[in-house]
Amino acid sequence: MHRSPDNQNTALSELSLGSTIAARQLKYALCLASILGLLITLFQAYHDYNWLNDVYTHANQRTIASNVPVATKSLVNEDRELADVMARGMLNQRSIARVMLTDAQSGVFYDKERPSGQLPASLWGDMLFGGLQTVVIPVRDPDLRPATTVGEMVVELNPQVYVSSFISRFIWSFMSTMVLAILMAVAFAAMSYYVFSRPLVQLGGYLVNADPTDYERPMEMPPHHRYDDEIQLLGSVTVGLFGMIRGQIGQLRRARDELQDANVNLEARVKQRTEELNEAMQKLEVLASTDPLTGLPNRRAYLGRMEEAISVWRRRDTPMSVILLDIDRFKSFNDIHGHQAGDAVLVDLAKTMRSTVRDIDLPARMGGEEFAVLLPGEELEGAMKLAERLRAEFEKSPVNFGGNHLSYTSSFGVAGLPSAQGRAGLDAKVSRTFDALTSHENSDIAALIYSMADSALYKAKEAGRNRCALTEFDLLFDHINA
Ligand code: GH3
Ligand code: MG
Ligand code: MG
Repeated sequence: MHRSPDNQNTALSELSLGSTIAARQLKYALCLASILGLLITLFQAYHDYNWLNDVYTHANQRTIASNVPVATKSLVNEDRELADVMARGMLNQRSIARVMLTDAQSGVFYDKERPSGQLPASLWGDMLFGGLQTVVIPVRDPDLRPATTVGEMVVELNPQVYVSSFISRFIWSFMSTMVLAILMAVAFAAMSYYVFSRPLVQLGGYLVNADPTDYERPMEMPPHHRYDDEIQLLGSVTVGLFGMIRGQIGQLRRARDELQDANVNLEARVKQRTEELNEAMQKLEVLASTDPLTGLPNRRAYLGRMEEAISVWRRRDTPMSVILLDIDRFKSFNDIHGHQAGDAVLVDLAKTMRSTVRDIDLPARMGGEEFAVLLPGEELEGAMKLAERLRAEFEKSPVNFGGNHLSYTSSFGVAGLPSAQGRAGLDAKVSRTFDALTSHENSDIAALIYSMADSALYKAKEAGRNRCALTEFDLLFDHINA
C-alpha cells in the first residue's frame, strides 16, 4: 500500500498516542486500586483491632473470674498444689504473664511467672492494648460471716500476643488486598485497552490511510466494523463522509474533464478553421492575381510587380522593360474559327510566352487578347530582342485546333526605364527626362510606362501589324512637362 512519509509519521504518532493512553489507563488504575486497597486494609485493621481488643479484655476477665473460687480454696486451705494447678492453667492463656496469690498478711503465698523473654512487651502493646497491666482481685472466704478477705489474686497481663496477631493479620490483609487490587487494575486497564484504546487507534490508522481523493483505490471499510458500538458508529459516519467527498470530487473531476475535452475540441476546431481560412485566403490570393483561362498572372499582379521593379530601378539604377502585345485581328479570327479556337490561341500563346521568357521575367494577361511581359534588369534593347523572338515564335507555331493548324500573329510595343548606362546611348534630352522621372510616384511611373508601351503597340498596328515597335518618348516629355 502506498504511504507518503507524512502519513507514516502521523500513523506512528497515532500509535504512540494509543500506547500512551494505555499506559495512562494502567497508571491511573494502579493508583486508584492502591488507594482503595489501602482504605480497605485500614478498615479491616480497625475492625480487627476492635475485635482483638474485645477478645483480649473478655478472655482475661473470664479466665480470672473462673479461677477466683480456686484461688479462694487454695488460700483458705493453704493448698499450694491447687494454686499451682490453677496458675499453670491460667498461664496457658498467652496474654497472662504472671499469677500471684497473697494471704491476708500480704505475704506472698504463691507466685508463678511465665519464663521471662518469652514474649517481650513492646511499644505497640502499650499503644494498642494498654501495655502491661496488673489486676488485683481481693479473695474472700464465702463461708465466713461477715465475709472476710483472705488474700488477693494478682494477675499480670501482657497483650503482646495480641499485638503479634494483629500485626500478622494486618500484613496478610494488606498484602492480599493489594495483590487483588493490582490484579484488578491490570485487568481493568487491559479491558479498557482492548475495548476502547485499540479500536480507537485502529480507527485512527484507518483515517490516516484512507484517502477519499484517491480514485484508483476502492474504499476500504474501517476495522472492526462487525462490532455494534460507538467507535464502529464513528467509523461508519466517516465512511459516509468519505463517500460524499469522493462523490463531490468525482463530479468536479468529470466537470473538469468535460471542460478540458471541450477546450481541446475548441482548440482543434479553431486550428482547423484557421488552416481552412489560410488555405482559402491563399487560393483567393492566387485567384485574385491569376487569369483562369491561361493561368498567367493578371493585370493586378502585373502592375504590383511592375511597381516593385520601378523602385529597384530608382534605388539601384537597375533597368526594367515592358513588352505589351496584342493579337492581330482577333475579332475576325473568332468570327472565322469560333470563340473556342480563339481561346485555344490564348492558351497556346501563354504557353509559348512562358517557355520563351527568362525565369525572372513575368508574362501576364492584361485582359482580352492583350498580354504583357515584365523584364526586370533588362534594357530597352534587350526587351526589343525578346519581343522580336516572341513575335517570330507566334508566327511560326500555329495552334492545333480540331485537326486544323490555325496561324496567328501579334503586334508588340516596348517601353521601359533604362539604367544610366542604357540612357547613355539615348538622346541627351531623353536621358535628362528619365532623370527627372525619379521624383514621381511609382504608380505614376508605372501608368506612364504602360501607356508608352501601349502607344508603341498602336504604332506597330498602324505600321501593318505582326511587328515590334519601341516607344517614342513623346509621352514621356508630355508627362514631365505637364
Ligand atoms: P486588332 O488587330 O486591331 O487588334 O484587331 P482585333 O480584332 O484584334 O481588335 P479588337 O480589339 O476590335 O477585337 C478584340 C477581339 O478579341 C474582340 C473579342 O471577340 C476578342 N476576345 C477578347 N477576349 C477574348 C477571349 O477571352 N476569348 C476569345 N475567343 N476572344 C476574345
Ligand atoms: Mg485588343
Ligand atoms: Mg487585337
